[in-house]
Amino acid sequence: MRLSKYYAPTLKEDPADAEVVSHKLLMRAGMIRKLTSGIYNYLPLGLRSINKVAQIVREEMDRSGAMEVLMPMVQPADLWRETGRWDYYGKELLRINDRHGRDYCLGPTHEEVITDLVRGEIKSYKQLPINLYQIQTKFRDEIRPRFGLMRGREFIMKDAYSFDKDEEGAEQSYWTMFEAYKKAFARIGLRFKPVQADSGAIGGDFSHEFMVLAETGEDTIASCKACEFAANLEKAKVAQPKGLCNCDDDSVPALEEVETPGKHTVEEVCDFLSIPASRLIKTLLFVVDGNPVAALVRGDRELNDVKLRNLVGGNDIEMADEALVKKLTNAPVGFAGPAGLNPEVPIYADQELCVETDWVAGANKGDTHVRHLSLGRDCTIEKFADLRVIEPTDPCPECAGEIEFTKGIEVGHVFKLGVKYSEKMEATFLDENGKAKPMIMGCYGIGVSRIVASAIEQNHDENGCCFPPSIAPFEVCVISLGGKDQAVTDKAEELYSEIKDLGVDICYDDRKERPGVKFAEADLIGYPMQLVLGGKGLKNGIIEAKNRKTGEKIELPLEGFKEAFQ
Ligand code: ATP
Ligand code: MG
Ligand code: MG
Ligand code: MG
Repeated sequence: MRLSKYYAPTLKEDPADAEVVSHKLLMRAGMIRKLTSGIYNYLPLGLRSINKVAQIVREEMDRSGAMEVLMPMVQPADLWRETGRWDYYGKELLRINDRHGRDYCLGPTHEEVITDLVRGEIKSYKQLPINLYQIQTKFRDEIRPRFGLMRGREFIMKDAYSFDKDEEGAEQSYWTMFEAYKKAFARIGLRFKPVQADSGAIGGDFSHEFMVLAETGEDTIASCKACEFAANLEKAKVAQPKGLCNCDDDSVPALEEVETPGKHTVEEVCDFLSIPASRLIKTLLFVVDGNPVAALVRGDRELNDVKLRNLVGGNDIEMADEALVKKLTNAPVGFAGPAGLNPEVPIYADQELCVETDWVAGANKGDTHVRHLSLGRDCTIEKFADLRVIEPTDPCPECAGEIEFTKGIEVGHVFKLGVKYSEKMEATFLDENGKAKPMIMGCYGIGVSRIVASAIEQNHDENGCCFPPSIAPFEVCVISLGGKDQAVTDKAEELYSEIKDLGVDICYDDRKERPGVKFAEADLIGYPMQLVLGGKGLKNGIIEAKNRKTGEKIELPLEGFKEAFQ
């Protein structure tokens, strides 16, 4: 590919709305452009990287025995009503009507569609197990789309779904996917860690997340220094019958009986703090000196610009106390949750429980949350919890070793779903004894577009991206410094064509730009190797090869150079 004819509009400055490095660099390198909030165009260079991630994922899925399909993005509401998720999923589900007024949604995930696809077709245990996957655009109306490709509203996901005849098979399917994920992420070149996870709105009772280790991650991982234990601090919620919490504090009343002496709408609280509701980013709830307290945080995930209000007494609390700020900053994220952008959201509180209706953190957490302020715990009304909140000082639950906390970006997630969907949607098969049974399911997601951003978070320097070769837009860039020197241009041209013919993933900077511009852009885009040919080099019979990641430069003889690539 000749860069003189390529569409890669680079930027000199960081875009104003970009907070994390991957977002800045993807924009500056001309890999993506924003269409509207959380919705991006993928430009040629960006798409190449995305496609490379997708291809590695595809190969590992195929190798594991899964089969690729492509399901529609528009899904009829009736399927979602069958499973109850039309009501349960909340505002992340973008709902639309057709001209007849029928309800549809844009697929945020495909459990309903895939279950519908196999029910009726799979009749016998002899047809099981199967695993079907797709690589497709998803839509989730995220409350706070941000960080570019990291948390988009429209994004590319690989999602796979397994169907088994028994528990044993389902277990095997789960671990097959787990291993395939490890292979895919290793091939991509990510530093990652599988951790125990909560299974959110998707449901089921067993799941792991694959975390890319990076400071900008939105998740907090608790991992043991001594053993393999690692968990997302979000982990904690297990299904329980509606109404009562099963955590060990049985003094907690049923929800209906909760008194709410303090009730403040977000609007009221914003008023009190003299900030516009639009600037309110997060409501965190804490217990300070035995009182439930709402902390409204402005700025991103930092507690340095925070005001507290005692929800019961109504008085505010000074945040001058540095020790307190520190305590809150170090609190496990189990305490925290984004809430409150919607001025309609009431916050109820009393000494024991804080109830936030229409919890805007998103569908994963259900629509209503209850918080045990005195425990710092958080439960949902549908899914009261056997909560395991790990305090920074707690020992490892498995080996009593020391726990450390790191930040992670969730790039993959594997769930055991059991019969949650197959039972409700009557996806049954006849077993060996001719008895109808629901299929046992698993589901497995990978954030394909998010991976490109995560790879940049892990691999960059002050000059730009340092892509792992497996997913770089091009692996090699030939840079000609020929200018008017036709001999250099001819030689660069020749090298480019010859190396390209060998099947090397190469591009050629043949633009009439100054050397400085070419070097800066090659660094910005992050081709793993740059081959630089200038007049002096040609005269001396050498070409310079630069390793983008290490910065190491070596001179190689032009003679026999092509052969070295073979
Ligand atoms: P998160 O906790 O980050 O909101 P999730 O748990 O809701 O993610 P899953 O339902 O597990 O996401 O979806 C599978 C994968 O899709 C995730 O592991 C992640 O890599 C990716 N993904 C989810 N939401 C987004 C998004 N808004 N933008 C980009 N990728 C996403
Ligand atoms: Mg989510
Ligand atoms: Mg998650
Ligand atoms: Mg997940």
